[in-house]
Amino acid sequence: MINKVEVVKIISCLRKKAGYSQAEFSEILNVSPQAVSKWETGLSLPDIDILLNMSWMFKTSINNILEGDDYIDEVAGIEREFLFLNKILKCPKCYNDLKLNNNINNLTYECNNKHYFNIIDGVVDFKTREISGEQWSLSYRNYDEYLHEHHWLGNPNYKRGLNKADVIWEEIVKHRPKIILDMACGTGQGIKHQIKKINWPVTIIMVDISHRILK
Ligand SMILES: [Zn+2]
Repeated sequence: MINKVEVVKIISCLRKKAGYSQAEFSEILNVSPQAVSKWETGLSLPDIDILLNMSWMFKTSINNILEGDDYIDEVAGIEREFLFLNKILKCPKCYNDLKLNNNINNLTYECNNKHYFNIIDGVVDFKTREISGEQWSLSYRNYDEYLHEHHWLGNPNYKRGLNKADVIWEEIVKHRPKIILDMACGTGQGIKHQIKKINWPVTIIMVDISHRILK
């Protein structure tokens, strides 16, 4: 049996933790502000599809929204994103599940074959490495050359074919994904424009060979 008083507390607590006002929250979930106020006063419960969106938005399970979240507050100092990744990351060496390990000063993901990966500055370090002199691109010799190519509006490459960002957006809006894996994200310039247009809860996992650029 669902305890409505508990649910009221949990939803309002998760919303405040995420820093949303009731109005912002209702806009993101595409419901009326009255609906949010009803959930938070116990007059009604959110529909299943709204709960699903909330679970993605707050990186928690529907169970936790309905029954209380017992692990987020326990693991102090760990961002919810890392706990969430815990459920989907595989070890790149042996493909076993990776589990988050909270050692005293050191947050790591470990598999049961003892492969471990540090979390440094908010980035999971999979021990990839940059190739000296080739970190900007295989096509450019150095950063200046890269900047010249990308900031030069007369570059005929800009006029060839479809705009890449538009093509990607068409796919995104068609599938309305809950998770986007941005391979070779670099500093995130590509996904930045898509994020502005996404109006549903989504988790974006950004992967790049360069830990320095990810930071
Ligand atoms: Zn492993």
